[in-house]
Amino acid sequence: MPLIPTIGLEVHVQLKTRSKMFCGCAVEFGAEPNTRVCPVCLGYPGALPVMNRAALEMTALTGLMLGCAVPEVCKFDRKNYFYPDMPKNYQITQYDQPLCVGGGVPLNEFAYPKDAQKSIVNPGKTVRLTRIHLEEDVAKSQHFESSTGIDFNRAGTPLMEIVSEPDIASPEEAFAYLIALQQILIYGGVSDADMEKGQLRCDCNVSVAEPGAPLGVKIEIKNMNSISAVRRAVAYEIERQIAAVQKGERLVQSTRRWDDDSAQTFEMRSKESAHDYRYFPDPDLLPVDTSVFMDEVRTRRPELPHEKRDRFVRDFGVTPYDASVLASEKALADYFDAAAKSARKPKNVANWIINDLLSALTTAEKTIVDCPISAHALDELVNLIDAGTISSSQGKEVFAAMFATGAPAAQIVEERGLKQESDSGAIEALCQQAIANSPKAVAEYKAGKLQAINSVKGQVMKLSQGKANPVVVSQVLEKLLAE
Ligand code: ZN
Ligand code: MN
Repeated sequence: MPLIPTIGLEVHVQLKTRSKMFCGCAVEFGAEPNTRVCPVCLGYPGALPVMNRAALEMTALTGLMLGCAVPEVCKFDRKNYFYPDMPKNYQITQYDQPLCVGGGVPLNEFAYPKDAQKSIVNPGKTVRLTRIHLEEDVAKSQHFESSTGIDFNRAGTPLMEIVSEPDIASPEEAFAYLIALQQILIYGGVSDADMEKGQLRCDCNVSVAEPGAPLGVKIEIKNMNSISAVRRAVAYEIERQIAAVQKGERLVQSTRRWDDDSAQTFEMRSKESAHDYRYFPDPDLLPVDTSVFMDEVRTRRPELPHEKRDRFVRDFGVTPYDASVLASEKALADYFDAAAKSARKPKNVANWIINDLLSALTTAEKTIVDCPISAHALDELVNLIDAGTISSSQGKEVFAAMFATGAPAAQIVEERGLKQESDSGAIEALCQQAIANSPKAVAEYKAGKLQAINSVKGQVMKLSQGKANPVVVSQVLEKLLAE
């Protein structure tokens, strides 16, 4: 029997609150170590925690975006353990009454790695969630040559833990899950979810078993810090476990770490030393009545990436791929929305954004947020082309000038005398001149070789210095040559 993998992910997300979870200290990165601290986040005995309402609301909003239920009451518990970077030796977290339960993350095809988008095994799959709970982050240890320093600036930062069901069937699905989740978190404004900055941290539970059999021994890969590394680590671990089982080895429940340089996982500890955290309700914190803020939080639910994608396809006639590019980033989607609203052909606006604007931004090392061409200005340019006032090759020139100077399209067209010639009288004179210059091509055309007209057309364009409207040129030439 073949062995199949089962994967579940636990994701910790740093919330974008101004202050910490249980005290008023600022959440701030890059500050001088141990300068954003107080008796509460330093864990002094007797210091009393006070809940951060914004963190509760952001977690509830995440739950709404992911289709979770938000029970009427949630509560905080102490998870007891020896924490080298948490002097009170318990973490305040949520045990049996988390803020959100159920829900799921829809995996859209464009969230998969590019090389895997053509061979998706379960299109339209949604990975179910077990729960989302809220807790506090620990301090950050820094290891020096012969000592360790601890920075408490991070201690007490609100952390949201999103736990999936063991629903994920491949490294590619794990990748798609994280990309889709990251997009939604950014859309909701609850986190910047940058894995490299540690704002999103992922533990992967991987097991293998025969199809239909109970789940195999669960092995956890801790603290992954990039989405592509998650894909590699999970792929490696699946292969390692299958090879071990086939050799007759007995796998034990354990925790491993991924080393990206050697591309292997290494055992850190086995579950012989399983902890009993002795959870109990934190006596300093009352249970939370979520109805106090839920009505207001519901009004904050944004349109989600997949909803925008569907709307772009439906309302603007954009292809699903282009719609997914445009919806992948909220600021980009807003830009497209603004530009497409008054466009004659919104699809052409999408093409200009995807083919020209994004690459110009990349070259200029800018983002859509500091784009020198406003959405309205781009729309004006595209409308000039769609109306035939300028040709699309003139459009490229105008676009470049707009990008460099920020001037509006109409002004550049005027200054450079770029108007396309669409007057058929003027064009007819040029066509007659070109016909007179090209007896051979004309003869071939009349003998039935229709593409011979292209060289005549090329002459007309040259004579007009590129300004003749090519559609009008074709019409006039065909008319003249039919006579
Ligand atoms: Zn504090
Ligand atoms: Mn946790």
